[in-house]
Amino acid sequence: MRLIIMGPPGAGKGTQAVFIAEHFKIPAISTGDIFRANVTRGTELGVEAQKYMNAGEYVPDEITNLMVRNRIDEPDAERGFLLDGYPRTLAQVEELDGMIAFTGHRLDGVVVLTADRDEIVGRLLQRAQTEGRADDTEDVIRRRQEVFAEQTAPLVEVYRGRGLLVEVDGMGAVEEVTRRIFAALDALPES
Ligand code: AMP
Repeated sequence: MRLIIMGPPGAGKGTQAVFIAEHFKIPAISTGDIFRANVTRGTELGVEAQKYMNAGEYVPDEITNLMVRNRIDEPDAERGFLLDGYPRTLAQVEELDGMIAFTGHRLDGVVVLTADRDEIVGRLLQRAQTEGRADDTEDVIRRRQEVFAEQTAPLVEVYRGRGLLVEVDGMGAVEEVTRRIFAALDALPES
């Protein structure tokens, strides 16, 4: 099973990714988490990525693509994976297509969580207090929403065109959103 979960920052992708990955027994691969782990460890990748992350901008495609390629080459991703936060640009979509085709597999579905902009900004500000992420300040949060709208929202139409889109209302209780996601995934055609 090869899945993607997409949605604006604060829509609840990371939370839902855990449930989906558990259900299908595949790893949830979050590019944001991998970048943050590298920042914490002070690796070369982390030092480079941090400049972009702190400003709410995307890390350049070449860096991100290579990181994902290495991650999905690991043995635990052989049976499949759920990508959380990747792809985010059209160039990343193309790169991922190549990676999946190379292994002779295909993408099975793309879950898109939709969310009300004001509500998610509020959620992120709350998260800033509990998790203390460096990119959860109000200015950076707004910039991340803009970058999402400019660079990532257009990907929805690409995947819709391929018949892979599973659009789910991400507002409401966590369990309710999870239930909606599984119902929508069940309705995807098998082939
Ligand atoms: P996230 O935890 O998914 O919100 O990601 C946090 C930050 O990591 C983003 O604001 C970007 O700076 C960076 N990032 C994560 N995934 C990507 C990606 N696919 N392409 C570029 N930058 C990314």
